[in-house]
Parts: sequence; C-alpha cells; structure tokens
Amino acid sequence: MKNFICFVFVVVTMVSPIVMAEQVNLYSARKEALIKPLLDKFTQETGISVNLVTGNADNLITRLKSEGKYSPADLLLTTDVGRLYRAKQQDLTQEIATSEAISLLPNNLRDEQGHWLGLSLRARPLMVSVDRVDFKTLTNLEDLVSSEWKGRVCIRSSSNIYNQSMVAALIAQLGESDAQEWVNGLVNNFARSPQGGDRDQIKAVASGMCDVAIANTYYLAGMLSSEDTTTQEQAKKIKVIWPNQADRGVHINISGVALTKNAPNKDAAIKLIDFLLSKESQLWYSTANHEYPVLADIAWSELLQSFGRFKTEDVPLSRLGELNAEAVQMMDRAGWK
Ligand code: FE
Repeated sequence: MKNFICFVFVVVTMVSPIVMAEQVNLYSARKEALIKPLLDKFTQETGISVNLVTGNADNLITRLKSEGKYSPADLLLTTDVGRLYRAKQQDLTQEIATSEAISLLPNNLRDEQGHWLGLSLRARPLMVSVDRVDFKTLTNLEDLVSSEWKGRVCIRSSSNIYNQSMVAALIAQLGESDAQEWVNGLVNNFARSPQGGDRDQIKAVASGMCDVAIANTYYLAGMLSSEDTTTQEQAKKIKVIWPNQADRGVHINISGVALTKNAPNKDAAIKLIDFLLSKESQLWYSTANHEYPVLADIAWSELLQSFGRFKTEDVPLSRLGELNAEAVQMMDRAGWK
C-alpha cells in the first residue's frame, strides 16, 4: 500500500504542470530605502516576488547593454528622465502596454512611444534666505541673472543631470540664444565654484554663504523632517519661491520606469507598474520620499502642501533627453564647472 501511494505521488508530480512563482527583476537607481517598502507591499498583495538590483543609473544601463537579450532585467527605474531617454536611445526598452492606471498619466510625463513613464514628480524651484531676501524681488528664473544677484547664487555642478535637464528645458522653451544668455548670466552671479549636492546648496543659503539656491524640493522636505535638530533649523531658514508662475511654470522632472526590451517577465512587470501608480503607492511616495504624485487626484502630505501649489513647465520630458548634449555644451561654454 505504502508503495502504491508513493507511485501515485510520483506520477501526479510528473504530470502536473510546474507552477513557477511569478517574479519581476528590477534594476533600480533609486536608494533601496525609498522603494523597498513599496516592493514588499506589492509582493504581499500579489505573491509576485521582486528581485531588486540597486546601482548607479549609468552603470545599470551599461549592464543592460552588455547583458543584451540574456538580461534578466524587466524594468529600469531611474530618478531622472535623461537616463530613461538614454536607455531608449540605446534600444534597451520597449513599449509598455497601456493599462487603466497608465492612461490617467498626463501626456508630458510619459514617452511618446510608451517606453517609459513617470512614477513621481520632482520640482526644482528657487530657495531663498528667509532673512536676507525680499521675496517680491524674485519671481522668475530670469531675475537671477541681474546684477542684484551678483555673488549670491548657489547651485551644484553642471555634471549633475538635474541641472542638465533644467537647462535642456530652458533651451526647449526659450530657444538656444536666450538660454545661453541665461546660463552665462547665472554663472556670472555664482557665489562660489559649484560643489556638493542640492542639500549642500540649501545649507549654504542657511549659513549665509549665498542667498538663493536652485534645488529639488524633496531635499528641503527631507531636512525639515530630519531627526537632527541642526538640520531642521537650517531648513527653517529657507523659503521656496515658485518661479515663472505667470508664464511657463517651474522646472520639473520625474523618477520613472522603463520596460526593458527583452523583459522575461513582462506581465508581472506591468502589474508592478500598475501597483506603483496606484493611489496607495502614490500616497506613500508623497509622504515617505517627499516627491509629488504624478496623478492629479492624490492628496499631498502636509509638508508638501506647506511649500504651496505651483504651475509646472509643459515641455514633453523626452525633450530633456534630446537636448541633453546641447545643454551640457552650453554650460561648458559659460564656464559652469
Ligand atoms: Fe536627488
């Protein structure tokens, strides 16, 4: 009898289709702490496991390229559209089938051929000293190049893709000649040779090294919610000014995701994208990462609300990638280190 049961067991096992657990392989340039909790939640809800590979965006693109059609990656997640554009240019991505969640995204936040889309929105306004700056004197990015701001501007290096994308957006909107003039004028008003990241520029305004910085808001939000009281105090010395609200709006970028060309787990990958665009995930982004939701009907955290509402640029984000090389040359010509 015992042998018979064993025999039945073996036969049943042999004829049953092998059920493989679903999985997604995610190459991510986002800090693990800022994405992992969401991925864990996705696994809990769907049973689909996510294998996370975290690294520098350019290195991940190089890796995708060298792995070619044998790459295990399904998705590439980056924190700037410039990198998503690069991956697409190198023929490493494919069209993401439109789902209901994706159809709700504004057109400028996704690739025209549907190869990538935004998961969170980042805004890059002006940040000024509460004590030393008369807010009314500063309404547009263009104001920063006047002699009034000579030696008072802090901004990070031109090798940083946030600045490259910002200048690319200006080229798209103002044309090459006006954009070059603005870049030249800005460099001329630098308080110091660029150094450090966005957070360092905010700290430099707080310490009096300069009076205005250009930085992404989530850095300021991170400082305001820091457990370190010194950092919190520094952040309280800063006011956000939304530039160009009467015309083109403030510069924005995205953190976003692309579907890789040879994604072996395409269906599961699209389920993950849908999950990241769900109300629950979008709310999480806005509170944990201090980024803005990409969907209009998601509530903002109190901290984000405290910075105020704003009008954004309406440049298709793919233009930032297309104009990246031109932007880099422009900053080089102006001597922006
Ligand atoms: Fe950043």
